[in-house]
Order: sequence, then C-alpha cells, then structure tokens
Amino acid sequence: MSNPALTQLTEDETIFQEAVKSFARAEIGPLVTKMDEKQSLDASVIEKCFQMGLMGIEVPEALGGSGSSFMTAILAIEALASVDPSVSVFVDVQNTLVNNALIRWGSEAIKEKYLPKMCQKWVGSYALSESGSGSDAFALATRAEDAGDHWVINGSKLWITNGAESDLFIVFATIDPDAGYRGITAFLVERDFEGFTVGKKEDKLGIRASSTTELLFDGCKVPKENVLGEVGKGYKVAIETLNEGRIGIGAQMIGLAQGAFDAAMDYMSERKQFGTPISAFQGVQFQYAQLATEIEAARLLVYNAARLKDAGLPFLKEAAMAKLYTSQVAEKAASQCVEFFGGVGFTKEYPAEKFYRDAKIGSIYEGTSNMQLQTIAKLLTK
Ligand SMILES: Cc1cc2nc3c(=O)[nH]c(=O)nc-3n(C[C@H](O)[C@H](O)[C@H](O)COP(=O)(O)OP(=O)(O)OC[C@H]3O[C@@H](n4cnc5c(N)ncnc54)[C@H](O)[C@@H]3O)c2cc1C
Repeated sequence: MSNPALTQLTEDETIFQEAVKSFARAEIGPLVTKMDEKQSLDASVIEKCFQMGLMGIEVPEALGGSGSSFMTAILAIEALASVDPSVSVFVDVQNTLVNNALIRWGSEAIKEKYLPKMCQKWVGSYALSESGSGSDAFALATRAEDAGDHWVINGSKLWITNGAESDLFIVFATIDPDAGYRGITAFLVERDFEGFTVGKKEDKLGIRASSTTELLFDGCKVPKENVLGEVGKGYKVAIETLNEGRIGIGAQMIGLAQGAFDAAMDYMSERKQFGTPISAFQGVQFQYAQLATEIEAARLLVYNAARLKDAGLPFLKEAAMAKLYTSQVAEKAASQCVEFFGGVGFTKEYPAEKFYRDAKIGSIYEGTSNMQLQTIAKLLTK
C-alpha cells in the first residue's frame, strides 16, 4: 500500500464510500422515518442493496460477489449507518457474519451452493443467542441429533437479526450437552426446511426497521452436508466470526455518530439565537470540537482493526476496543446532538432522536460492553 497511514483510505476506497453515501442519502434517506414507524425495511431498499453489490462484498467474483476486502465492507456499513443504522446492520450481518463464515468455513460444495444466492437475493442470519444464553453464549440448549442420513434440530433462538427477511440461517446447536462448548456445531438451515419456523418479532427501542426475531426448531431436518465447519467445532465458527463481526458494529457506530453530528452541524449553522448562529457560540464550538475529535478517534480504531484483519495480523484486542469505544462515542454523540437541536431534537421532525435511540444497541449486541472489557483485560494480562 502506498499510503503509510493504514487508517487512511485509498482513492478507490474513498470513491466507493462516497458512492454508498450518495446511494444512502438518495434512496434510503426518504424512507427512514417510514421504515422506523413500520418496523420493517422497505422491499426497494433490500433490492437496491443487492443491486449495488452490497450483499456480497467479500464474496469472490467467481461466485457472484464483488471480491473486495473486509475494509470495503466496513466502509459500506459505516456509510449506510450515517443515514440509517437499521439498513447498516442488515448489510453488516450479511457480510461480516454470514458470508464471512460461509467463505471461511464452508466446503467447496457449500460455497458454490449458497454464496451466489447470497449475492443475488438471499438474506442471511447468524443464530447463536437463546433465552438462557446471551453473554454466556456456549450455554446454549438447542439440540442437534444425528438421525443417520440427516440431523434433527430441536430448540429455539432469540434476538436474531434479519430473521424476518432471511432465507439462510447459520444455527448453532449442541450435539452433546455434556461436552460443553466442544459439542457445539454450526448448521445451515434454509427458511423452508421442515420443522423450522420464524417466531415473534421484537418491538424495540432502536434500529426498529431491522427485524429481530425468535427462531423455532421442532424436529427440523437438516441435511448432513449442511454442517458448516466440523462437527463439534461450531464454537470456533461462532467465536472467530464474532471477532470479525464486532468491527462491523464499530463501523455502524461511527457512521451513526457522524450522521447525527452532520445533521446537528447543518441545523446549528441555520438556527439563530441572540442574533447569532448557534454554531458560532464558543461554548457550543468546544462541545462539537470535542465530539468531532472523539468520532475521529473511534473511526481510527475501527479502520485499524479492519486493516489488521485484512493483513492477516492479530486484531482481537483492537476489535474489542473498537466495538467498546465506538458504542460509547455513538451514544454520547447522539445524545449531545439531540441537545444541539434543542426542543426539535426531541421530536420526530429531525433525525437526532432516532440516532439517539439507535445508538443504544451498540453496547449490547455481538458482545456487551462488559464482555468487550473482559476480552481486552484477558489479552492485556496474557
Ligand atoms: C437488537 C438485537 C439484535 C441481536 N441480534 C443477534 C443476532 O443476530 N444473533 C444472535 O445470536 N444474537 C443477537 N442478539 C443477542 C445479543 O448478542 C445479546 O443480547 C447479547 O449478547 C447479550 O446477551 P443477553 O441479552 O442475554 O444479556 P445477558 O448476557 O443476560 O447480560 C445482561 C447484563 O449482564 C452483564 N453481564 C453478563 N455476564 C457478565 C459477566 N461475566 N461479567 C460482567 N457483566 C456481565 C452484561 O454485560 C449485560 O450488561 C441481538 C440482540 C439484540 C437486542
């Protein structure tokens, strides 16, 4: 790479991110409020995400994808979040969790069967959490039993992003509850497999257009060849995919923070009090200068973790730090931006209140902030 600063973007990356931002502003922007109210993504948005090549960013070109880097996916997730964090997580889960796991752990037959579909029209979900197992993910109770020529899954999953739209689900189940994490296995479940249904959809505080659903398995039959990775090695698939995925959540959080910030700056340059634009008061300037600095620091953490991952270097600590810090910055920025708008910031007339609601999820999914701190501490004491 010619650029000595790994956290800076190349010309191609800048052009790509600007293209995604323009798309998001023009095609998603007008639908954001309606999608938030209806609690669902507009079909046109889903279709355009596929048309733009945003649903298979890292998938090799030979299998219908864009053949791009992880960093490219991160840039798309960031750009989308500056307009709608719900659309951002829709694309994030597809790329950083589902496609990533298929590329990394799938057999040639699995890759050839599923990846072209994921680039064209199939949406994917990553189903690890259950009612009894969140932070303690490997305490999962969903059971898979060997039935000779196929597996049978029984149990349920909770909190599954994209559940309402997905065609393919990566489902973690145990083949032997007594074996602890060594019993966990990853299965590929298609939406119309016998014994599988998508359950209730959550009514949420934020990212309301992103579906979060329950999944129910009642004697669900899964072909033998639909094990992703090795039997009993699903914990590796789960951990290693999430390690990368949380850089994506970091990207969502910095996009969100920037989107809130930009909207507030526009407003403050127009809105006058005491005969002066609000943005010209020194008290306010210090507040937004501080925020801009923190957003930039958060962005550098995310880009650094993504670059390390693309370079094949260790990135675990950096990814956990990025996820932790970006969620804190996003929450702070979104909160401050509501205040920058004054009373109208508290209404649905302006985007600040939605960014504020959406920001909260950053400290919860793909490992809570405490879990990130635990990871960072563990790696510091190794
Ligand atoms: C909108 C949304 C989308 C989601 N999408 C998905 C998805 O697509 N796929 C999926 O598998 N899951 C998904 N999840 C689940 C998410 O990953 C979990 O909610 C998260 O991991 C926390 O688990 P929990 O809710 O069971 O909380 P708990 O684990 O019960 O944690 C509750 C609190 O206790 C703290 N805590 C727990 N253990 C410790 C400890 N040892 N030390 C210190 N503090 C601790 C936590 O930090 C947290 O503050 C989603 C959740 C939401 C809300």
